[in-house]
Amino acid sequence: MKIICPKCKKNAELAMDFSLVKCENCGLDMSYGEYVKFIAHNETTYSDILGDYTGSTEGQTAGSLDEWD
Ligand SMILES: [Zn+2]
Repeated sequence: MKIICPKCKKNAELAMDFSLVKCENCGLDMSYGEYVKFIAHNETTYSDILGDYTGSTEGQTAGSLDEWD
């Protein structure tokens, strides 16, 4: 399905089994887990497209972002 590329802000493709995120515009190629961490770390405004994935941990992520550095 189509998602927003965290690098170039254009259309990227999320695999149907949520295993992979690819963007043909900038060459982005990462696992969904890496993608979630990437956008959560860089763009809190993308929380909308993460949906249930972060919903259960919301409130905890703010204090743990530094651990991803
Ligand atoms: Zn891109």
